[in-house]
Amino acid sequence: MSNGIHHVTAIGGPAARNHDFYTRVLGMRLVKTTVNFDDPGTYHLYYGDEAGRPGTILTFFPWEHVAAGRLGVGETQETVFRVPEAAMGFWAHRFIEKGVDHQAPEKRFGETVCSFKDPDGTRLALVAVPGAEAEPGWSDGTIPAEHALRGMQGVSLLLEEAGATGAILTDIFGFRESGKEDSTTRYVLPGTPVGGVVDIRAVGGFLKPRVGGGSVHHVAFRARDDAEQAEMVKRLKENHGIETTEQKDRNYFRSVYFREPGHILFEIATDAPGFSVDEPADGLGTSLKLPAQFEPMRERIERALPDLGREPAPQ
Ligand code: ZN
Repeated sequence: MSNGIHHVTAIGGPAARNHDFYTRVLGMRLVKTTVNFDDPGTYHLYYGDEAGRPGTILTFFPWEHVAAGRLGVGETQETVFRVPEAAMGFWAHRFIEKGVDHQAPEKRFGETVCSFKDPDGTRLALVAVPGAEAEPGWSDGTIPAEHALRGMQGVSLLLEEAGATGAILTDIFGFRESGKEDSTTRYVLPGTPVGGVVDIRAVGGFLKPRVGGGSVHHVAFRARDDAEQAEMVKRLKENHGIETTEQKDRNYFRSVYFREPGHILFEIATDAPGFSVDEPADGLGTSLKLPAQFEPMRERIERALPDLGREPAPQ
């Protein structure tokens, strides 16, 4: 069952600044430029690897005048990207050069991790993964392919306690508890290096979150297809008493949503059809794509959306 994390969606600040950070500082590919299907006056920007494969995708709803969020219990704390071990020095240098707010590397569960933030305070980290240099890295020349991100390792969740959410991860998504370090319990999906780690940091009665710029809106887990998703929905109800939303067509995947016991919004997204369903694979993200119901309003939507500040990739 399942193959780990499909994508993480966060709330960003101004779209041009968000686009600049993820494409020009981190060197990710903008794989889809669309709107929030529930709020078509707002962009929905998807960043990922070359194809936007599940497990590599970080997406944003950029709000031009968003107030900063404040981390609290019942929220995703950090999204962690994998890089080759030998790339960590490159990234430390780049963060200094680009003025990225970052921490000194630290050890977590035996791995070297460097935390940093985007301009809106979104909490991110790089984890050094031995052998990741053998995996292909996408590059448009901004970041040399050898140093490029290799998808997500996973996320950490800030919760009152680990148990009830851990039960969802293990029973519905196939994770296994693999260890504890201080207040953090690690869950891994065996054999799944990309998107296969969820850390639960249990902190008891901490402040409630204030959702805003830098807050993660939801974490999506993968289902191979509609049948696997339906099976997960059934088990959530039977084993955990949790009802999901009805299935929503997100054009690039089909999704259901639910609040997990620790109150974080989880999504189950199908792997199919993927981002090349409405534009060629070599032109992903280059033009505004709208779902059919918004096409009649395209002119009005385009006028209302801010400029992304695109420019040709460096040669
Ligand atoms: Zn989503």
